[in-house]
Amino acid sequence: MIITIGAGIAGLLLSRRVNADLVLEEQPIIGGVFASDNVFGVDLPYVLPIINDPMKIMNVGLNYIEYDLKISYRKYEYFKDKICKFCDKLPTWLNFDLTRKLYIIQNMPYFLATLSKNLRIVKEYPIRIDDKKIITNKGNVYKYTKIYNTGSLKKMSKLLGLDNSNLKHKSVLTLIILTRKEYGKNWNVYLSGDTADSFSVIIRLDNIIKDLDLYYVYSFIDANQKNIDIDRIMLDLKRRQIISLNEIVAFRSKLISEALLFGEINGKMPQNIINCGRLGEWKNYDVIETISRTQNC
Ligand SMILES: Cc1cc2nc3c(=O)[nH]c(=O)nc-3n(C[C@H](O)[C@H](O)[C@H](O)COP(=O)(O)OP(=O)(O)OC[C@H]3O[C@@H](n4cnc5c(N)ncnc54)[C@H](O)[C@@H]3O)c2cc1C
Repeated sequence: MIITIGAGIAGLLLSRRVNADLVLEEQPIIGGVFASDNVFGVDLPYVLPIINDPMKIMNVGLNYIEYDLKISYRKYEYFKDKICKFCDKLPTWLNFDLTRKLYIIQNMPYFLATLSKNLRIVKEYPIRIDDKKIITNKGNVYKYTKIYNTGSLKKMSKLLGLDNSNLKHKSVLTLIILTRKEYGKNWNVYLSGDTADSFSVIIRLDNIIKDLDLYYVYSFIDANQKNIDIDRIMLDLKRRQIISLNEIVAFRSKLISEALLFGEINGKMPQNIINCGRLGEWKNYDVIETISRTQNC
C-alpha cells in the first residue's frame, strides 16, 4: 500500500500522481496552509495565495485576480530580520520586490476540494513507524510499501529516531479580518519592520465581499514563544490607524506552527520514505515551487 502523509496541496497532488491508497492528515480540514473557512458565504483561505508569476499556474487549473500593487512601508530596512533573523532569505511570498502587480489565486479552495475527490483521506497521524507499518494516533495499523511524506520532516525524523535538532522554524499567527468598507486607504500591502508592531504583513482587498474590506494580517512568532496575544495585534492595528475596531464584522485566526523553516536534517531516510513539499523537504517553497516538486519527488 502507498501512503501519503499530509493533505496540503503537495500531498493531494502527489497522491494523485502516485495513485496513493491512503492519505493521513492530522488536521480536521484538508488544504494545509491554504485550508479555508466559509465567511459570509465565501470560502476564504486562512492564508492568501499570492504569486509573482501568473504564467506558471496557467495549465494546472488555478486562476488568479490581478491588482495594482500599492505598498506602504514602515522601517522596511528591518523587515527581513524582524520576520526571520536566521533565515538566509525570505520566501518569495514575502518578497514583494519580485513583482509589480499583486496576483492572487482565486480558486484555491475549489482546486483543493477537487483534488481531494476520490482520495481516501483519514484524519489521523502516525505515532509509530517501522520498516513495514504505520501505527496512528487512532490505534490503526497500516502496512505500507512506500510512504510519501508531505507532513512535518521534524516529526517524521523523530519517529524514525533520526537527529532533527538542526531543523528550526518560526510560527505565524494569521488573522482574517472583515470590516465595513473604509475609503481613503492608498495601499493594499503594508509591510512593517518596526518591532513596536506585533504584525509584519497586512494585505487588504476591497472587492472580495460586497461592502466589506478584507484584511490578512501575519504576525511572526519565535517557536518557543507561547504567548500569542491577539488583543495586542488588534491594538497595534488600531494605533497605526489601519483598522477601526468598531468597524470589524467578522474575524478568524489560525496559528501555523511550522511556518518559516530553516536548517537541515542529519542522517539518512529509509529508501521507501520519500519526503516532498515544504514540510517534507523543510524548505520555504512557494506554491509554484511546491507544485513543481510534486511532479518530480
Ligand atoms: C504563512 C504562510 C503564508 C504563505 N503564503 C504563500 C503565498 O502567498 N504564496 C505562495 O506561493 N506560497 C505561500 N506559502 C507557501 C505555501 O503555503 C506552500 O508552498 C504550500 O502550501 C505547500 O504545500 P504543502 O502541501 O507542501 O504544505 P502544507 O500546506 O503545510 O500542508 C502540509 C499538510 O501536512 C499535514 N501534516 C503535517 N504533519 C503531519 C503528520 N505528521 N501527519 C499527518 N499530517 C501532517 C498538515 O496538517 C498539512 O495539512 C505560505 C506559507 C505560509 C506558512
